[in-house]
Amino acid sequence: MATVEHAPMQPVLGIGFGPANLSTAIAAQDNGLLEHCHFIERAPEFEWQSEQMLTGADIQNNPFRDLVMPRDPGHEYTFVRYLHGRGVLTDYLHYNAKFALRNEYAGYLQWVASHFADRVTYGQEVRAVEVVQRHGGECFEVRTAERMWHARHLIVGTGRTPNVPGCFAIDSPRIFHAGRYLSTMRRLAQERVELRTVAVVGSSQSAIEIILDLLARPDVGRVVSIQRGIGFRLKDTSPFSRRVFLPEFIDYFHPLPLETKKRLREQLRAVNYGACDQDVIDQLTTVQRDYEHRGSDRFTLMPFSQVRTVVGQGDGALLLTLADVNNGDTASLGVDAVVLATGYRDFGTGPDDELSHPLLRSVRHRIACEADGTPVVHRDYSLEFASAEGSLSVYLNGVCEASHGMGDAGALAVLSARANDIAESMRARLRADAFEQPVPARNGLLSVS
Ligand SMILES: Cc1cc2nc3c(=O)[nH]c(=O)nc-3n(C[C@H](O)[C@H](O)[C@H](O)COP(=O)(O)OP(=O)(O)OC[C@H]3O[C@@H](n4cnc5c(N)ncnc54)[C@H](O)[C@@H]3O)c2cc1C
Repeated sequence: MATVEHAPMQPVLGIGFGPANLSTAIAAQDNGLLEHCHFIERAPEFEWQSEQMLTGADIQNNPFRDLVMPRDPGHEYTFVRYLHGRGVLTDYLHYNAKFALRNEYAGYLQWVASHFADRVTYGQEVRAVEVVQRHGGECFEVRTAERMWHARHLIVGTGRTPNVPGCFAIDSPRIFHAGRYLSTMRRLAQERVELRTVAVVGSSQSAIEIILDLLARPDVGRVVSIQRGIGFRLKDTSPFSRRVFLPEFIDYFHPLPLETKKRLREQLRAVNYGACDQDVIDQLTTVQRDYEHRGSDRFTLMPFSQVRTVVGQGDGALLLTLADVNNGDTASLGVDAVVLATGYRDFGTGPDDELSHPLLRSVRHRIACEADGTPVVHRDYSLEFASAEGSLSVYLNGVCEASHGMGDAGALAVLSARANDIAESMRARLRADAFEQPVPARNGLLSVS
């Protein structure tokens, strides 16, 4: 049996080190707390959306709303500082692009992350979180396959769980979520799997980007887009709607009753879900018209369609049965692979939701719940968590759309404000724990009054 190595007690342990916990590390540094924090990340090194690092893909937020700029424009970790440091700021401004390239932005995030390397253990996937008696009281025990950490405070920044619709939950290496797109395409190529027909399920930005990528691959035959709606819809980019990404909106949304939150989220769905940017819609319609002119069926859209069953064939291919969501007409489609651009799961009671964070399963009985069974998440992103003398706390960083609104659906735009909310709240807790020593905060003031 493999031995599990013990790591020393950490006051604060962050699980996951994507943009959410990276921005929290910066805010912790700015608040004089970084020395009390450590992060565990399953990837071997910092990466951001590497599975969808597609040629020409850009980000969907103003790059000035980076990890720090909205709260401190003079900060050393702004996107502008990154560009300037690489000597490419003038080039960037010259191109006058509305949005930065995804690749370019990943470079920025990696550069910032490199400054925090000594606070992160990479290549370790957290499998379980429990509460144990250790170090003179209750603490969290956080386990990976090889190591074990103890901590009093957790910041869970893992991103959300991929949503895999029930009919696709069969054991097939040919069905994969968009979150594993590029690595699976590489594997299928290595295995010399012939991709005569690939189905892409969903109508999101990811779905359309992946379709464009597949159509650009000469070794892919036909691409079929399967979606429940009429076809790719335009994202609601009105500045009025996009106020959901402002910290003020979170203040407005958070105290609303549960049912009102649900209604509001539904009403605002097109700001972030089942909708795409104009540029990729234009690209796909151009490609589609080109195929029509040539009499090619290389791209097919199946609107109003829902996959009902999936059956594996002897050669690894798959047979899908589809039904029209409006008139019930059925059809079948043989495919060699299925890409699920079906999004991620929120906390809730709907068919695609999960009640709580899967890593917190063993401590769920300690978490106070709303009437619908979802966790109570305070404005500072902490859970209402039962522990001896309130000594333990859990913060959810980037998975709180149900309680904090759409800005919390992983959007980069709210990172700097949320990270600071968490760091300031953590600072108060550490002070209470008497861990904190008086250290100068970023603005030169002493942190302990
Ligand atoms: C292709 C794509 C493009 C996007 N582009 C934009 C954009 O342009 N603008 C925008 O606002 N939003 C965008 N988003 C939304 C996205 O949620 C954010 O960009 C951002 O990645 C959220 O950061 P995060 O840290 O919350 O989650 P993630 O980026 O998912 O990071 C979570 C990290 O936790 C690690 N992790 C997970 N589980 C464990 C575990 N058990 N143990 C250890 N580590 C773990 C993961 O490896 C990962 O590194 C995009 C999403 C996708 C899928």
